[in-house]
Amino acid sequence: AKNEGIRTSMKYKDTPEGDKKCENCNLFVPGASPTAPGGCKVFPNDTEISPNGYCMAWAKKA
Ligand code: SF4
Repeated sequence: AKNEGIRTSMKYKDTPEGDKKCENCNLFVPGASPTAPGGCKVFPNDTEISPNGYCMAWAKKA
């Protein structure tokens, strides 16, 4: 499922912002494989976050 409300408020997109992308964000919750969709700690109930996506909450992976 997608959480459209928070996607809009965080300006989520399915493409990276330069080198910044969900897969190297501290808040990403990886899916079943490196290319599979996953989740995000600040996007409740959203299970379709792309590893290559990006939003304004991006934070460098620790
Ligand atoms: Fe992707 Fe944004 Fe979640 Fe980081 S905070 S994993 S950039 S949706």
